[in-house]
Amino acid sequence: MLDYRIDPQNPVDLSKRDANELGEWVDRKKEAKKRFKDLQKEIATLQQKLYAEHKHKVLIVLQAMDSGGKDGTIRALFEEVNPQGVKVASFKVPTELELDHDYLWRVHQKVPGKGEIVIFNRSHYEDVLVVRVHELVPESVWQKRYEHINAFEKMLADEGTTILKFYLHIDQDEQKERFLERLTEPHKLWKFNPGDLDERKRWGDYQAAYQDALNKTSTPWAPWFCIPANRNWYRNLCISNIIVETLRSFNMQYPDPIQDPEKYIELLKNA
Ligand code: AMP
Ligand code: MG
Repeated sequence: MLDYRIDPQNPVDLSKRDANELGEWVDRKKEAKKRFKDLQKEIATLQQKLYAEHKHKVLIVLQAMDSGGKDGTIRALFEEVNPQGVKVASFKVPTELELDHDYLWRVHQKVPGKGEIVIFNRSHYEDVLVVRVHELVPESVWQKRYEHINAFEKMLADEGTTILKFYLHIDQDEQKERFLERLTEPHKLWKFNPGDLDERKRWGDYQAAYQDALNKTSTPWAPWFCIPANRNWYRNLCISNIIVETLRSFNMQYPDPIQDPEKYIELLKNA
């Protein structure tokens, strides 16, 4: 698999990233889908171990332009997982109470505890993306946030959280197609928000904000991966592969809190 991790020493230029890229999986869609099925199952098995071991905390951050595929990614990757096994935290326009606090306040409450996987559907990065594009706070305020975010994520990592951040990279043509699909398929119409067209006009501003965020906050303790996402099946394959490799690297073990199960088997026979 190609390595989509962003190396801040070698900053990403989003305008040069091909959202259609399929790496070594060109003309191998069927095989890729089969491989993805295996990864889906492995995520489920590894999640069970993660929960049982009660040691690691996993935070997965998903960011993308509108229609970029965040919801579809969550649905596909965690389809096989016990519904009790993962939590999703979706970050929308902040409430009044949230706005009365610092921007990390609502985020910190949702981070994973031991044995948990939490997926952020949007995240604290909105505070250097939509907030920057729409000038919801002055530049002097949002500019400082990259540093806060790196420090916040470093603290989480130092305290035992493994963080993986995925930017799902689609291009403008793909977004147009996805919006049209939403407008022409009755069961998808609900997803269309006329405001999305205004956001689309700011494509360049958003890309600039994303590019800065990715380059300034891809760290050894919380890396960003820039995933080509025009093709859902390739996106799913890349992301699930990274998650599985990370979970495997934990070398997790089921705990065995009792010494001699045989004794209890005997006791149970006579119970
Ligand atoms: P959706 O993910 O389509 O349900 O939309 C959620 C909306 O909330 C998006 O338009 C985001 O840009 C917006 N949003 C999320 N976080 C913030 C934030 N911190 N400030 C302003 N808008 C936000
Ligand atoms: Mg939306």
